[in-house]
Amino acid sequence: MAVDAHAQAEGGSAEETVRRRDLAVRAAVEQGLLNEETPLLCLLDTAGIRASAAALTSAFDRALAPGTPVLHAFAVKAAPLVPVLRLLADAGLGCEVASPGELALARAAGVPPERIVLDSPAKTAAELREALALGVAVNADNRQELERLDALVAAAAPASPIGVRINPQTGAGTIGALSTATATSKFGIALRDPGARAWLVRAYLDRPWLTRLHTHSGSQGVPLALIAEGVRELYALAEEINTAAGRRQVDTLDIGGGLPVNFASDAATPTWTEYVGELRSAVPGLFSGAYGLVTEFGRALTAKHGLVLSRVEYTKSTGGRAIALTHAGVQLLTRTVYAPAAWPVRILPYSAKGTPLTGPLIPQDIAGPACFAGDLLAAARELPPLSPGDLVCVPDTGAYAFTAHYGYNSLPRPPVHGFTVTPSDEVRFRLARAAQSPSAIPPEAGAATPDALL
Ligand SMILES: *Cc1c(COP(=O)(O)O)cnc(C)c1O
Repeated sequence: MAVDAHAQAEGGSAEETVRRRDLAVRAAVEQGLLNEETPLLCLLDTAGIRASAAALTSAFDRALAPGTPVLHAFAVKAAPLVPVLRLLADAGLGCEVASPGELALARAAGVPPERIVLDSPAKTAAELREALALGVAVNADNRQELERLDALVAAAAPASPIGVRINPQTGAGTIGALSTATATSKFGIALRDPGARAWLVRAYLDRPWLTRLHTHSGSQGVPLALIAEGVRELYALAEEINTAAGRRQVDTLDIGGGLPVNFASDAATPTWTEYVGELRSAVPGLFSGAYGLVTEFGRALTAKHGLVLSRVEYTKSTGGRAIALTHAGVQLLTRTVYAPAAWPVRILPYSAKGTPLTGPLIPQDIAGPACFAGDLLAAARELPPLSPGDLVCVPDTGAYAFTAHYGYNSLPRPPVHGFTVTPSDEVRFRLARAAQSPSAIPPEAGAATPDALL
């Protein structure tokens, strides 16, 4: 099938992903990474991330007119770890950042300012000044930010390309909290509000230094055709501005990210090739070479290449329900725990030796360590009976999950290891982020000022 062929070309086949995962889980046990002291860890499949980056790059390269300037900026919030940013930079990507912390991470990874895009909706004057001084590209979110930029640009001609984010108001997907292009979404300047379009064209004519247009009109739960519709609106506005200006003032379109991820199986769908296909039919001009292109994908680059691995500490039966108590919960899968219907995850059971667990299926709750009843990764999930010492693996957690640690119950951040598999099936681990020790928590919780409230 075409989709399988693309998936294979894009990220290695699902079979390869599963094979590498099984080898890694077993090796994590055999090499002693998972033990009494470390009952919880996170793994990143380095080859999988590389394959995703290559798939993204080649899908657009195949469609774009030769010589079109293109920057694929990884949305840092999806996996804010310096080694991940460095790996992606090595694969040719830049960074999209949305806070001073994310900018610091991109710089720590050695990403040059001209390959960084700054996009947050609430940038302070100091953040804007720093970005402009560095030459980081900036997308203004709103009219007041544009006025702030007027003053900064008047004071010192910026090296940065500057654009405006628009909300095409093309509609919501299935997850309200992740739908950025509804009539009332908080991001960007709303294109369909009365008078907004004319105001925007005038704003560009008055500011010759505005050379980009930006939208990020989708994310998990938004169909590809709807994302492409937002990009079509972006393109049409750029053409309108350039016609009014009588020159190609807007020279680069930043189409954001938002490729959804399949959390139901190991198939890496939809693919970038499919998305590029949607874009080609909705916005053929995007690929003509008339505009440079910036993309900002996050989730689809890393989600399927991360996994959480936890030992089952205890099992019990309560009110007739079998419950497995594990170390992986709300601190790592915050969205799943608070919004389980929108963010279901798969639970893959392994034995204490790291081999896939089989057996008759019985409904079990997979519970996390946090002290509230809702801290469940799965409820009444049909799984082989789990025993203390067995392992549960949560795949597809390489974006917005363990990389976005939540400090509930002062649960420490677990270690993150990257892994590669040699041709002879040997698994090599590299520590990408050390575990946070419990003793590191008090210094981040006011230990230096214990008497502050006396
Ligand atoms: C979060 C975000 C992205 C990345 O979205 P994904 O769904 O992870 O691809 C890109 N651009 C902006 C402005 C964002 O806020």
